[in-house]
Amino acid sequence: MSYLEKVKDVLSINDLCFLKEDDIWETLDTSKAIIFDGHFELISNKHTDTFFRFAAISQYPSFLAKISKELVAWLKNNDIPEIDVVLGPSSQGLFFAYDIARELNGTMGTRAVYATINKKTGRPAEKLVEGFEIKPSEKVLVVNDLTTTGEGLDTLISLAEKKSGQVVGVCLFANRGIGVQKVEKISNQYKFHSIIDLDMPFWSKTECSRRCDREKKMIYSKDINHLPIYSEENEYEHYIKKLELYTA
Ligand SMILES: [Zn+2]
Repeated sequence: MSYLEKVKDVLSINDLCFLKEDDIWETLDTSKAIIFDGHFELISNKHTDTFFRFAAISQYPSFLAKISKELVAWLKNNDIPEIDVVLGPSSQGLFFAYDIARELNGTMGTRAVYATINKKTGRPAEKLVEGFEIKPSEKVLVVNDLTTTGEGLDTLISLAEKKSGQVVGVCLFANRGIGVQKVEKISNQYKFHSIIDLDMPFWSKTECSRRCDREKKMIYSKDINHLPIYSEENEYEHYIKKLELYTA
């Protein structure tokens, strides 16, 4: 099975407004943003054998610009006409928030602002990075590169609302939380869109002792951000080698 066949097996693309499906396949095939056949612990403490790494895509500004153009086309087609502020986390999602605001800026004069990251959990905190602000009644678009549990999105929404901003939409590049209660709730409550949906199952640690190959070394999602980005198909083994050096 080729890398792209594996990708197509776990991914569905939602109604595209500007890009062609081939643009998405090219982005994922070149970046190798999905790591297969591994053993990971996600921020949510769940275990899984697949990992989506947005940095693999955002390291190519031309890919990111295409994704932003697609998202902005979707916003316009879905009656979200005015956005004062794009709010994202100051982790990998920062590039996405910045680039969507850049794409919107030509027509709307939109700013980008960022939430700080809770160092313990790796998730966005309910606090803006110093110096940035959301003013009362400003229209806020909440964005993130990925959601799995909806926890991060929930915090970003609360932050915007605490500042008396009006959340006009919640947008993601990838939704890994299909069927997850919190993600479903957010998608029912707000104008919600993800460019792609990922069917990459995860399970509890307890279940993992039965399902995972115990010989297979595990990578914590907090560690992977410190490791180089690979664009080769057998990358999991590269990560493990680097991880051993990093944690040594
Ligand atoms: Zn495990």
